Formats: sequence, C-alpha cells, structure tokens
Amino acid sequence: MKSFNESGKGVWRVSGDEDCPHGSTIMLGSDKGNNQYYQCQECGAVIIIEGESSPEQERERMEREKEEEKSGFDKFTEKLR
Ligand SMILES: [Zn+2]
Repeated sequence: MKSFNESGKGVWRVSGDEDCPHGSTIMLGSDKGNNQYYQCQECGAVIIIEGESSPEQERERMEREKEEEKSGFDKFTEKLR
C-alpha cells in the first residue's frame, strides 16, 4: 500500500496494523536511493519513506557505481598479471 505524507513524499507501509497511528517509530536505516526505513514499535510495521533523489542524482549515482565497478575490475586484473 502506498500513500503520501504532507511533504508529498511516497510512503510505503509493509505489514503491521492498519489502524495503528505508528506513533513511535525507530529508524532502521536508509539505502542508496535515500529511501528511509522505519519500524513501528507498536505494531511492527516497516515504513519506507521514498528518498528525494532526482533523476539527475540517480544518474550521477549510477555513473559513480560504474566507476567503482571498473576500478574493482582493474584491481582484479592487476592481480592476474
Ligand atoms: Zn504501527
């Protein structure tokens, strides 16, 4: 189920109680896309708030990952020489 909070960000809830206001949540962490993960301490729901990464940022991130991959591969091939 997807809904939006006041700031217009996408919010996802995974499992948990539909009637719970999810008043006391703890942050579980965030991923590379800036999505934030919270868990409700009352009903155990996991709430995901979508990150603000724009398509522009997303592209930069992918470029960076590609670079990292390449350097990792270079290191690997260096060992073979
Ligand atoms: Zn809850």
